[in-house]
Amino acid sequence: MKFQAILVTIISIICFHSVEAQESFEVEYLKRDVYFLASEEMEGRGTGTKGEAMAADYLAASFKMLSLTPVGVDNSYIMPFDFKYSTKMHGSEESDLISTTGKNVAGFLDNGAEYTIVIGAHYDHLAKGEFGSSRAPNLFGQIHFGADDNASGTSGVLALANYYVKNDKKEAFNILFVCFSGEELGLHGSKKFVERLPVAKEKINYMVNMDMIGRMKPDSKTLVVTGIGSAKEWDSLLIANNKDFALVKDSSGIGASDHSSFYLAGIPVLNFFTGQHSDYHTPGDTPDKINYEGQSDILKYITRIVSGTEQIAKLNYVQTVNKGSDTPRFKVTMGVMPDYTWQDGGLRLDGVTVDKPAANAGLKAGDIVLQIGDSKVDNIQDYMKVLGKHEKGDKVKVKIKREGKEMLLDLQF
Ligand SMILES: [Zn+2]
Repeated sequence: MKFQAILVTIISIICFHSVEAQESFEVEYLKRDVYFLASEEMEGRGTGTKGEAMAADYLAASFKMLSLTPVGVDNSYIMPFDFKYSTKMHGSEESDLISTTGKNVAGFLDNGAEYTIVIGAHYDHLAKGEFGSSRAPNLFGQIHFGADDNASGTSGVLALANYYVKNDKKEAFNILFVCFSGEELGLHGSKKFVERLPVAKEKINYMVNMDMIGRMKPDSKTLVVTGIGSAKEWDSLLIANNKDFALVKDSSGIGASDHSSFYLAGIPVLNFFTGQHSDYHTPGDTPDKINYEGQSDILKYITRIVSGTEQIAKLNYVQTVNKGSDTPRFKVTMGVMPDYTWQDGGLRLDGVTVDKPAANAGLKAGDIVLQIGDSKVDNIQDYMKVLGKHEKGDKVKVKIKREGKEMLLDLQF
């Protein structure tokens, strides 16, 4: 798409935003936003790149059409933030710190209420693989379109903003809509956003995050919702408002996306996710593979849950056991985020926490754990059992599979 075409697309938002609120979740609008954000011209929306800036302009134009209050610099919707990231994640041997500037994009719907909720999603992605196409070095140099990760969640923010601006009723709270950058490099955008919130932290009721909501399997309709343990009220609200989905619930407030930054600041969170797939973090994550109907159903579900919270002045924050809902407490931790939807043997990792045993042992996101010490690991339950057997300080060998190859790593709990 040439720049002119981009302008035309931005102008077409005007037409989009004149539609009625109930049409907000129509597939054609979700499609239009995902195809735009995941187009070749965005070059994979790498933080600090031209593609990221173009995507940011598109998001800001969308917020402006909706007359959201700008909360960025100079009366704009853009909130730039500086950060450093390590090049080590690109697979190189030496680690250099690179300084860059990312752009969060945020707009505020002021309903004159006491409390505010945050609805967010990251819009940055891996550019041409420079920013962590972790599993396949040969994909370096190809555009990583990031349609599911996370043009899907970003288009969800736009659709929800449109819905809440256009519907006839005023919600019982204000809403802050945020599109984060710097997520793929380590949740940098959301961390900075939480450090410099445009409203007082005590006045934030909760945060809803969407990261990869585009690959709902039409037959199983599995929807992973994390953060359920972070407020006393979430579980019953999720159940009461669910009509479409096979829910996979995870209590943990910490996960591999931006809701973690809010949870760690004492704010209840929910994160929506349709599960892993083989195109994850590859150039194969393209707009034609998105299940837009499924995405639309998720957005409607979110509005029902949000309506349900209007009966409660402010949700009660709870600290979660960051391991999954029915997990006993262990003396040790590895500091990994398991992929709850992985079915192909072993325990696939969605992420590892810095400075925890797994990271220190060299484990990475995308690794599949096959064995820990003497115990074979074929699923999350096996992994839990292994944790139950160990004490702090124990040393074990961990057998993993990375990019098809088996390796042994030394891990100390
Ligand atoms: Zn993501």
